[in-house]
Amino acid sequence: MTIEEDAYRYAVKNASLHNGKASSGAIMGKIKALYPKLDIKKTMEIALEAVKKANGLEPVELKKEFEKFEKQGWELKPKEKEEKLPMLEWAKKEKVVTRYAPNPNGPFHLGNARTAVLSKDYAEKYNGKFILRFDDTDPKVKKPIANAEAIFKEDLNWLGCTPDETFFASDRLDIYYSYLKTALQKGYAYICQCKSEEWREKIKKKEACKCREIKPRKQHKLFEQMLKGEIKEGTAVIRIKTDLENKDPSVRDWWAAKIVDEAIHTNPKAMEKYVWPSYNFASAIDDHLLKVTLIIRGQEHEQNKTKQEFLYKHFGWEYPHCFHIGRIGLPGLMLSTSKIKEGIEKGLYSGWDDPRLGTICAFRRRGFKAEALKEALFDLGVNTNDSTIQWAKLIDLNKKLIEPESERMAFFEEPLQLDVHLAPEQNGKLIVNKKVFEKFKKGDVIRLRQLFNIKITKKDSLQVFADFVGTAKINKPIVGWFRERTDVEIVMDDNSKKLGIADMKIAGKEKGERVYFDGLGFCIVDSKEEKKVLLRFTHK
Ligand code: GLU
Repeated sequence: MTIEEDAYRYAVKNASLHNGKASSGAIMGKIKALYPKLDIKKTMEIALEAVKKANGLEPVELKKEFEKFEKQGWELKPKEKEEKLPMLEWAKKEKVVTRYAPNPNGPFHLGNARTAVLSKDYAEKYNGKFILRFDDTDPKVKKPIANAEAIFKEDLNWLGCTPDETFFASDRLDIYYSYLKTALQKGYAYICQCKSEEWREKIKKKEACKCREIKPRKQHKLFEQMLKGEIKEGTAVIRIKTDLENKDPSVRDWWAAKIVDEAIHTNPKAMEKYVWPSYNFASAIDDHLLKVTLIIRGQEHEQNKTKQEFLYKHFGWEYPHCFHIGRIGLPGLMLSTSKIKEGIEKGLYSGWDDPRLGTICAFRRRGFKAEALKEALFDLGVNTNDSTIQWAKLIDLNKKLIEPESERMAFFEEPLQLDVHLAPEQNGKLIVNKKVFEKFKKGDVIRLRQLFNIKITKKDSLQVFADFVGTAKINKPIVGWFRERTDVEIVMDDNSKKLGIADMKIAGKEKGERVYFDGLGFCIVDSKEEKKVLLRFTHK
């Protein structure tokens, strides 16, 4: 709706309440509430014009207009984008550099998209830089997936979150080794060879183990052995010295690197390495080296900050600014990487873009617009609360965007042949919706949409016969029809398949084009076969 239309809507309301005489002052207030940034002069012009138009209506017309708008409601929410995210005061002095640091062990989903979208937005708003950095330093339990870069970038680009720079932690192992070496030499870290059970017992009691006191020279030798693969997996870890009194036992002397005998990794350069840093260590080093100034990450990673601050203090570095944000959910959609992977392996899901998953590729394939997802994420703002996105809201946001480009057309799950007796010796054959015709009986008069009127003369389960009874528009049920059938197959939101036939116009649509099927909802063309169009259901 334009500003002029909104103004007219309120002028009609005001005129209806005041004997056909709207006042421009009242309308100006409404326009201001809807468009706070519009200047006074323009607001006045628009209000005067709207009032002139409304006051010029005949009483019957005014009543009609009022009833029309009454049905739509008198919403008064500001239409200009409000500033939903906190400003960065410090950005006057420091460059804003943000990063999105996923472990590419699974697909990109709505849960981690919040971090990416906010990080990109901040970088853009402050003319800064947005870095994509793959935290791919777990070559054993959370191994990276094949083609991670291409997959993540496709989703990020689609979301408008194209990174300015991309890094892989697995390319930077030698950098981490050099910092580990310094940390060992300077006594910021130590190599612990205790049995993990025994170490845990000690640390629970805030006690140090004897490895903590081993001299740097010996530490250095051990480290060299670790790098060469001379120490077995599970027998040594590098720990960062922290305050043993820290209230959280998992923070106390957290592990920075361990040994993996047989690394399985998509990065060929990393295959021969034995020492693997934790993401907490690699990430902390990289945030400093890449000059990241703002970290936005999940609330579940808040403890990383506490851990990493010990390391920063050892090296004399300044810790970046941080926002920790709550988890998000969308009822009924799977958003857990491990469960998604497990489900795909077991064959429960058709793939990463199965419509029951909350992955970005699933949203894209079923016809959501990136802007709708982003808007829903921005609406949550920056806070530590776990939030649920409501389907109704997301659908509403998406509907507004796709409605203008979705051609409306008829769709029947089950066709029924209609034989219309047009004139002596002249019959027309059409296809109608069996379900819709269930409620009609012999003798009923119906209008075929934008065609003519018919009267049913006979009906069975396969066919219906009717006589042509005129062309004038009448007050009778209007039904859709086709002359020729085009088969369609629709993957619904529960991954079930719906077969049906649709208007011939569907055959002319290309992949990615949208339609609104009467009685079903919005769908997007997914692919085309010789005699069939395959679609995905977006939403009602
Ligand atoms: N790699 C971590 C994750 O995927 C991010 C850690 C961080 O942002 O510091 O959640």
